[in-house]
Amino acid sequence: MSAEAAAGAEGSERFAALMPPSSARRRLLAKSSSLVDEFLEELPGLPVSSDVDLREIRQWLAQFDFGSPVPVDDVIDACAHALRRWNVHNTHPRYFGLFNPPSAFPGVIADLLVAAFNPQLAVWSQAPAANEIEQHVVRFLGATFGYAPDAVGGAFTTGGSEANFTGVLVALSSRFPGAIEEGVRSLDGQPLIYASQEAHHSLLKIAHQCGLGRAAVRAVPTDASLRLDVSRLREWVEADRRAGHLPFLVVATAGTTSTGTIDPLERLADVCAADDLHLHVDAAYGGAAVLSEAMRPHLLGVARADSVTVDAHKWWAAPMAAGILICRDRADLRRTFDIAGSYMPASTPGTIDPYTHSVQWSRRFTGLKVFMSLAAVGRGGYAAMIDSQVRLGDHLRSRARERGWQVVNETPLPVVCIADPSIDERAGDDAPAAYSRMAREIVRRGNVWVSSALAGSRACLRACITSFMSDEEDVEALVAELETARENALGS
Ligand SMILES: *Cc1c(COP(=O)(O)O)cnc(C)c1O
Repeated sequence: MSAEAAAGAEGSERFAALMPPSSARRRLLAKSSSLVDEFLEELPGLPVSSDVDLREIRQWLAQFDFGSPVPVDDVIDACAHALRRWNVHNTHPRYFGLFNPPSAFPGVIADLLVAAFNPQLAVWSQAPAANEIEQHVVRFLGATFGYAPDAVGGAFTTGGSEANFTGVLVALSSRFPGAIEEGVRSLDGQPLIYASQEAHHSLLKIAHQCGLGRAAVRAVPTDASLRLDVSRLREWVEADRRAGHLPFLVVATAGTTSTGTIDPLERLADVCAADDLHLHVDAAYGGAAVLSEAMRPHLLGVARADSVTVDAHKWWAAPMAAGILICRDRADLRRTFDIAGSYMPASTPGTIDPYTHSVQWSRRFTGLKVFMSLAAVGRGGYAAMIDSQVRLGDHLRSRARERGWQVVNETPLPVVCIADPSIDERAGDDAPAAYSRMAREIVRRGNVWVSSALAGSRACLRACITSFMSDEEDVEALVAELETARENALGS
């Protein structure tokens, strides 16, 4: 098509739904921005969650049989309606849930830019700006965690699970380089992974994905504070070695999902150094706290790990999906993922081609939302956000104690697990079901969102200060909801 034709009437009408003319694009972008802003404005007044009727959603969907095209205006309106109506609003200031905060606004814009420019991050030469921006973020975060910026490497992932998967593959490939070609079946023993009983269950899926099998994950008991018990770990590793197995990796958690517990990182680093084990820290949630001077001491020891997972879509409030695996030595990433394809563009000296350093091949520019948020909010802004959520968590703990709840977890992070002895006594062995009923009742009322959990073997209600927009008034609303649920549980 000639330039004239492209600029002419025919050009702008060709595939107009795929690429509307400029005037329509501007109108649609403006319309979408209005919808986004209206949602953000009305959000605090919306219920956090509401009853959903599956049939209603299916009926609504039936209008889209993809037979004949629907005007894009209508499609946008319909989808915004669906997302507003049939969604747990985890971005709500009264969502005290599972590490899914509101999106830092620069990240929302970043995702729009990324979708439009659509850079391809398989190789450096196709997307120099995008690749250099990501490596800049990796060096900054690496240095913040205490790694040498000239050696550190990183891979942007879809989240904590893929980052952990990357870390496990790296550990496997550095301890058993022969298995890269020959597979784990070539080894003369069963490679074993050690993590606490409180570790994230993604590890089980990962062990399967690596060909190790889920049974390769040893769930090490925890101490009274729910931290991985280091002396038990030592005993288990020794016993497994004597039995002919191949211990190769310890996964420490910095901020467990249920209770926000931070494993004893320094002592685990000592064990791994003495026993020649790879140390991976799953800091999917808690790693974000490294940006706060006040909180960083709680993560002491991360600098001695071989690799660390951080989920930017958790406490750094990037829109999903954004995880990062940071590796002390990027040569470990290279060893694990190096590959060549005749159809791939040549590498550029002095740069990194992500497809040779990570699980993914074609990849979205995940790092931009992290970069733009860090740039626009600043390190100090993030520190202030972390510190204020930590303070609000402390406030919730003391309000709960004042109301007679027991706090059953120990963490400096704003994850608060509470139980009530009279509920425990009345429910006996059914305590998990009792707390789960209470959580469901609270969620059904729609004013706040909490979940039930197990802190070790102790059933509890779990509330995490997830949103940087939450304040003391929101915490009071939560305390009142907890009170009502307890009265109902004890009254029934
Ligand atoms: C959330 C979480 C994960 C999994 O991360 P996704 O982003 O959900 O894939 C892994 N480990 C911990 C400790 C987590 O909290």
